[in-house]
Amino acid sequence: MTSDRTHTPRDCDEFQRQLPELFDSDRDLLAHAHLQTCENCSSLVRDLEYIAAQAKLLLPIHDPSPAVWDNIQNALARQAKDDNKSS
Ligand SMILES: [Zn+2]
Repeated sequence: MTSDRTHTPRDCDEFQRQLPELFDSDRDLLAHAHLQTCENCSSLVRDLEYIAAQAKLLLPIHDPSPAVWDNIQNALARQAKDDNKSS
C-alpha cells in the first residue's frame, strides 16, 4: 500500500515521544490523527493499551508505576528493533 504520503518516519518519532503524555491524558489514543494514517503506530498503541490494561489488573491502585513504564519502554524498544530490521 502506498497511502502513507501524509506521514514520515519523523512523525512516528514525534508521536512516540508524546505517547507517555497521551497515555496519561486519558484521551482516546486511537482517535489521534497520526493513527489514522499510520498502521505501524496504531498497532503499537493497541499493544501498549493491552499492556496498560494488564498492568491495571495487576495494580488496582491508581498510581502510575515505574514498572508499567518499564514494560511500555521495552515494548517500544522491541518495536524499534523490528522497524530497523525491516528497513
Ligand atoms: Zn507512525
